[in-house]
Amino acid sequence: MQLAIGSSSQALGTDGHRLGAMQRLETPMRRYSEDEVVDFLVVGIGSAGGVLIQRLARAGFQVVGLEAGPFWDTERDWVSDEADSHKLYWEDLRITGGDDPITLGANNSGKGVGGGSVHWAGFAPRFHPSDFRVYSEDGVGADWPITYQDLKPYYELLELEMPVSGPVWFPWGDPHGYPFGPHPMGGVGNALIRGCTKLGIGVSAGGPVAILAGSRGDRPHCIYRGFCLQGCKVGAKASTLITHVPDAIRNGAEIRDRSMAGRIRLGKNGRVDGVSYYDAEGREHLQRAKAIIVAGYAIETPRLLLNSACAGHENGLANSSDTVGRYLMVQAGNVVLGRFEELVRMYKAPPAHAMTEEFYETDRRRDFARGFAIQTVSPLPIAFAKHMMAAKGVWGWGMRRVLMDYNHWAALGLLGEILPWPDNRVTLAAERDHFGLPVAKVIFSLHENDKKLIEFGKNKVIEVMQAAGAQEVVQDSRYAHLVGGARMGRDARTSVVDGFGRSHDIPNLFVCDGSILPTQGSANPGLTIQALAARTADYLISQADDIFTSGRRDLTRPPVRRHLSPPGTHGVGIPRIRSG
Ligand SMILES: Cc1cc2nc3c(=O)[nH]c(=O)nc-3n(C[C@H](O)[C@H](O)[C@H](O)COP(=O)(O)OP(=O)(O)OC[C@H]3O[C@@H](n4cnc5c(N)ncnc54)[C@H](O)[C@@H]3O)c2cc1C
Ligand code: SF4
Repeated sequence: MQLAIGSSSQALGTDGHRLGAMQRLETPMRRYSEDEVVDFLVVGIGSAGGVLIQRLARAGFQVVGLEAGPFWDTERDWVSDEADSHKLYWEDLRITGGDDPITLGANNSGKGVGGGSVHWAGFAPRFHPSDFRVYSEDGVGADWPITYQDLKPYYELLELEMPVSGPVWFPWGDPHGYPFGPHPMGGVGNALIRGCTKLGIGVSAGGPVAILAGSRGDRPHCIYRGFCLQGCKVGAKASTLITHVPDAIRNGAEIRDRSMAGRIRLGKNGRVDGVSYYDAEGREHLQRAKAIIVAGYAIETPRLLLNSACAGHENGLANSSDTVGRYLMVQAGNVVLGRFEELVRMYKAPPAHAMTEEFYETDRRRDFARGFAIQTVSPLPIAFAKHMMAAKGVWGWGMRRVLMDYNHWAALGLLGEILPWPDNRVTLAAERDHFGLPVAKVIFSLHENDKKLIEFGKNKVIEVMQAAGAQEVVQDSRYAHLVGGARMGRDARTSVVDGFGRSHDIPNLFVCDGSILPTQGSANPGLTIQALAARTADYLISQADDIFTSGRRDLTRPPVRRHLSPPGTHGVGIPRIRSG
C-alpha cells in the first residue's frame, strides 16, 4: 500500500493527492527514519520554506520539512466558502498587547503546507531599491545587508515561477515589465483607476499579481470568483503548495505535516543538531540534521528561537544581541469603503488586481519619512460586514440593510510602511499551548512617524474613492502583513542573521522567512520573501560542505542557479518578458 502524502494512515486515492482543479501529485513521498541525520531540516513549509525545500531537493540534498499544519488536498479539504476557510490560518493562542495592539488570528499567518501563500491575495510587487537603504536615505529604520541588485535576479526568477501577471511596464521602483499579461478589471479596479485618473495619479491595472491570466501546464487560468483568500480551489493563484512543493517531493524531499517544532537542540561545538517536534497525536520526536533552517514566519520563528533557550543561550538561540523578537513590523492596512450608485460586485474579480505606488517614496514636502501604496482589496461579505461594523457601527437590522447593499460597495486598501522599532516585539507569555510550549506575546505600538504616515495615507485613499464618484465613504483602521522579529544585518550586535540568513551565533542555524526583513517598504512582502528564499538556497548549496562541518563563514555571492526552477516555468505559456 502506498502512503498518502501528508498521512501515515490513509491509502493514496486513485486520483493521487489533488492540488487544484487540474494538478495531481502521484509520486509517493520519500520517508526518512528519525535516526538518519539528514542534510537540511526546514521548519515551516510556507512561502519561503516551500521555495527553499524545492531547491535543496532538486540540488540533490537529503531534506526534511516539518510543518505544523496539514498537507492540504484541495479537492477534499477546501470549499469556496468564506465562513469555512479559517482553518487556513494560524489561530492557536497568541497574546497581544501594547498601545496599538495587532489583532491576532485570522488575518495574520497561515498554517499548513504553503503557509501564508495559501491564503494570500497574491499581490506580488517588488520592493524598491530605496527599501534596502532606508537609514542611509532617510535617517530612519535600518539598511539591509544586501542591495536591490543582489535580489533582482531572484525577483525575475520568482516572477516566472509563480508566475506574476501584470502590465508590460510597471513604472515605480526599478521599472520593469511582467512575464504574463494583466488581468481584466473588476469593479473595484475600475473605481481605483477612475479616482486616480481624475487626480492625475498613475495606476497599474491588472497586477502585479501571482494569478494566472492564461492557463499554464497543469494549472488553469483564473475564473474570477474572488475566493483567493480562501485558498483558490481552482489552482490559478500561486501558492508554494502548488508551485514548488510538488517539485520538491518529486525530487525526494519529505514533508512531515501536522508536525509542530518545539525546540531546536544544541549539540556539540556550539552547533545545532536536531529539532524536537510533536506529531498530530502529541507524541514527541527528534529529527537530526546537519543544518537547520527556521522558516516559521514573523511570530513563530522568534517564538521557536526563544523556546529553544538552553545552557549557554539562556535568552534563546541566536539571541546574543537580544534582537530575537524585536523590530516586529506590520504595514498600515486601513480599508476605505465607498458606496456607488451603480453595481460594483466586488466578488467578481480577485481582490488583488490594481494598485498605485505613486506615494511609495519619501517626499520631503510631507512631515514623515517613507510612504505607502493604494491597492484594491475587495472583501467578501463576512469581511465586509466586519469592516462596516467597525466603520459605521452598524449591527442587527442596520447590518442587514448594509449587507443587502453589498454589491454597490467598493473597497480600497492603504498599504503603509511602519518603521522597525525595538519595543515592538515578540516575547514568551506565561500561557502554554496544548503541547506545553509557551505561546508568543506580541507587543505593538505606533510611533510618531507611523501615525503621521497613516493619517496622510488614509486621507489620500479617501480622496481617491471620492474622486471615483463614491456617494458615501467610510474607513476601518487595521494592519496587514507581519514581518521582522529576527532581522538580518551586518552587525552581530544588532541583528540575528547575516545577509544570507545565517545566524551570527550558530554556524549551522539559518532563518529564512519574513522575520529576517530589516524594513518592509510599502510593497506586499510575499515575492520578496520567496526571492530571498531562492537566494538563501543558492548560498546553502554553494557553502554546504563548510556549513555541515565547520564554523567558517564565506560570504561570497553564490551563482544564480536558474536550472533549479521548477520545470516548465520558463519559456512556456504567454510570457511577455523573459529573464536574462
Ligand atoms: C489575508 C492575507 C492576505 C495576504 N495577501 C498578501 C499579498 O497579496 N501579497 C503578499 O505579498 N503578501 C500577502 N500576505 C502576507 C503573506 O502571506 C506573508 O507575508 C507570507 O506568506 C509569509 O511567508 P513566510 O514564509 O515568512 O511564512 P508563512 O508563509 O506563514 O510560512 C510559515 C509556515 O511555518 C509553519 N510553522 C510555524 N511555526 C512552526 C513550528 N514551530 N513547527 C512547524 N511549522 C511551523 C506555519 O504553519 C507556516 O506554514 C497576506 C497575508 C494575509 C494574512
Ligand atoms: S478569483 Fe481567480 S485566483 Fe482568486 S480564487 Fe477565484 S480562480 Fe482563484
